[in-house]
Amino acid sequence: QYSTGSEIRQKFLNFYAEKGHKILPSASLVPEDPTVLLTIAGMLPFKPIFLGQRQPEFPRATTSQKCIRTNDIENVGRTARHHTFFEMLGNFSFGDYFKQQAIAWGWEISTKVFELPPERLVVSVFEEDDEAFAIWRDEIGVSPQRIKRMGEADNFWKSGPTGPCGPCSEIYYDFHPERGEENIDLEDDTRFIEFYNLVFMQYNRDADGNLTPLQNKNIDTGMGLERMAQILQQVPNNYETDLIFPIIKTAAEIAQIDYHKSDDKTKVSLKVIGDHIRAVVHLIADGVTASNIGRGYIVRRLIRRVVRHGRLIGISGEFTTLVAETAMQLSEAVYPNVRQRESAIKGELQREETRFLETLERGEKLLAEIMEKAKGQISGQDAFVLYDTYGFPLELTQEIAEENGLTVDIKGFETAMEEQRRRSQDAHETIDLTVQGSLDQLAEHIHPTEFLGYTLLTSDAKVE
Ligand code: ATP
Ligand code: MG
Ligand code: MG
Ligand code: MG
Repeated sequence: QYSTGSEIRQKFLNFYAEKGHKILPSASLVPEDPTVLLTIAGMLPFKPIFLGQRQPEFPRATTSQKCIRTNDIENVGRTARHHTFFEMLGNFSFGDYFKQQAIAWGWEISTKVFELPPERLVVSVFEEDDEAFAIWRDEIGVSPQRIKRMGEADNFWKSGPTGPCGPCSEIYYDFHPERGEENIDLEDDTRFIEFYNLVFMQYNRDADGNLTPLQNKNIDTGMGLERMAQILQQVPNNYETDLIFPIIKTAAEIAQIDYHKSDDKTKVSLKVIGDHIRAVVHLIADGVTASNIGRGYIVRRLIRRVVRHGRLIGISGEFTTLVAETAMQLSEAVYPNVRQRESAIKGELQREETRFLETLERGEKLLAEIMEKAKGQISGQDAFVLYDTYGFPLELTQEIAEENGLTVDIKGFETAMEEQRRRSQDAHETIDLTVQGSLDQLAEHIHPTEFLGYTLLTSDAKVE
């Protein structure tokens, strides 16, 4: 049954409010926890409660939490379901209800509130969690073929080597039940989409790796708002939902193209623009400004990618504030700080865009000179200078080189990059690279030059 993104958000919160949960507003994308770069999940604002460092004000809470996951940046536009910015709907129990109740409500909201047909749902459990398996089979009535046991990587949650942890259970939607129950492979994203994760925080792990049951067991869950919208709006990916598609339409109009008639490469660019501009709008609304380090660098990088993809689809002038305006219109009712911060958002976009366009222009000039002298191939050193001094992504150099019948010495480029990295390591011997946790955290502790290098090798290099 078709529901708008707003309706889905509201139905989720109302359902859990009726079940005694306190509705809390989304926390900022900038976490209170100074060791974490960005809010990556709905549980993050509650982490001190789960760790026993803070007493909860309510035994149950429900939120729609703004999240950023930069580790998914490569997936943006390429998978149907990943964003950098998304909203995670969650219900939380702080030492209150546990596994049985969480599963029962998870199923009820999926099948009764969102009216997903039970025969379209598949669930996963941690391979050793016989209890969860039995609840799904005996109490909910899911057929055993549609309950999949999965390993630790997917179905065991922990926030560090020691501390609270526990198994999780996820609910997937089946786009193609006609393919049969015999060969269910939850990794197959042409058939399945994970939309709801239920974490059962039931153990404490000590320094020797021993698990002991927690006194107060907790529930932490996350449902992707954009994914539920994709399912209910029956569109092929998250990007074509009412939460994001208007931004893509704006970008397509500026480029004078039609999304639905575009080739895959163009669609990816439009999706990247739609995704990243939402992230940038909310990051700046939450007080982050572009810089060369930490969160600021993430904002800068996202803006540059928006500009680059704009150029790839034929936009020559400045356009980021126009797509940002659409993104603001879509979110201002739920997130009033977006309109309150309008001038900061648009000002920052304008400054960054102008600056990057200048950089691109200078780089293009240098590249033209390099190409004139090059005999068949652009040297790795030249490509590196373009990258390092002009912020010219390698694949952009490659693309332009190709258009001119030249290749680029990739090996040489990597060697130059490696040398640069060694130099900067020598200069920063005291950098602590042992920081636990996500790449996000790592990024904050690394010298910006190094982070640029890392960035290029992992993701920008793959931008087409
Ligand atoms: P996936 O396996 O698809 O990458 P995940 O297992 O990493 O998802 P969780 O960490 O379990 O995701 O997060 C809980 C829920 O948040 C997911 O079930 C999904 O609905 C949503 N979600 C997670 N990552 C993203 C993302 N990058 N973009 C949009 N929604 C997401
Ligand atoms: Mg993931
Ligand atoms: Mg997963
Ligand atoms: Mg998951």
